Amino acid sequence: MSEADEPVGADDSLPEDVEAVRRALVEWYEADHREFPWRRTEDPYEILVSEVMSQQTQLSRVVAAWEAFLERWPTTADLAAADRADVVGFWSDHSLGYNNRAKYLHEAAGQIEDEFGGEFPREPDELSELMGVGPYTANAVASFAFNNGDAVVDTNVKRVLYRAFDVPDDDDAFERVAADLMPEGESRVWNNAIMELGGVACEKTPECDGAACPWREWCHAYETGDFTAPDVPTQPAFEGSRRQFRGRIVRTLGEHDELALDELGPRIRVDYAPEGEYGREWLQGLLSDLADDGIVRTSESDGEVVVRLR
Ligand code: SF4
Repeated sequence: MSEADEPVGADDSLPEDVEAVRRALVEWYEADHREFPWRRTEDPYEILVSEVMSQQTQLSRVVAAWEAFLERWPTTADLAAADRADVVGFWSDHSLGYNNRAKYLHEAAGQIEDEFGGEFPREPDELSELMGVGPYTANAVASFAFNNGDAVVDTNVKRVLYRAFDVPDDDDAFERVAADLMPEGESRVWNNAIMELGGVACEKTPECDGAACPWREWCHAYETGDFTAPDVPTQPAFEGSRRQFRGRIVRTLGEHDELALDELGPRIRVDYAPEGEYGREWLQGLLSDLADDGIVRTSESDGEVVVRLR
């Protein structure tokens, strides 16, 4: 079997049903996400400006600067024709970090005009020829402007992959799993979605339930309760073991069609005893949280409570 024919789930780190993992993330992202104005444009120049500005500045502060910059220099031709001192002055006035970035952006606008006839190239390799545009930024512009990029692997994405799929802390492994996971030809939505996951759910202190993370049912960290990551060397503060037990319930139900309460209980805690401290009442408390989140469904069958994933 050639490499191209291998099943998409061939990578050991990924769950068998990679399609379900992909769908869950894209649906979660499309249902709700932070609104940044550059997410509404496909103009490569506007996207490049947002990427360069975000390298050193908090996203919330970038919005106003980005809007003002584009109002003043709406196209690469306008920026290329500007006086460099004005561009650098703008950068300082808006506290956007190293002034070199302003110089490079100005230079890159000139390259677009002079070397590329005013049209941005669409390939990451060609985009990297622009002044100050490294592989990460080139890929981001190719993805968000042209839907033509590779999987983004930044610190946030590494943290997500490490926790969710137990990917070893190794750059090649992250690259490989990230590439396997990205749906072919969908870099725009995919890179936005996985970066959003790292930005609002799988932050250093994760918000698995609070942000309704779509990967809870597959997530290794959610199951084991170990939320350390390459950039989070010690266990972050979180709500504690209830989350860990909820994770275990979701995993266990993923392996069975349905289970009665007393079949499920001992799989979650070895000391489960129906009438004990960790018994039915305790288990039903966890299940009702998961039902509120739309993850599990309980019903009655022959007088017994049975539980299944939704
Ligand atoms: S379940 Fe939690 S730890 Fe796992 S990917 Fe989602 S937010 Fe991250």
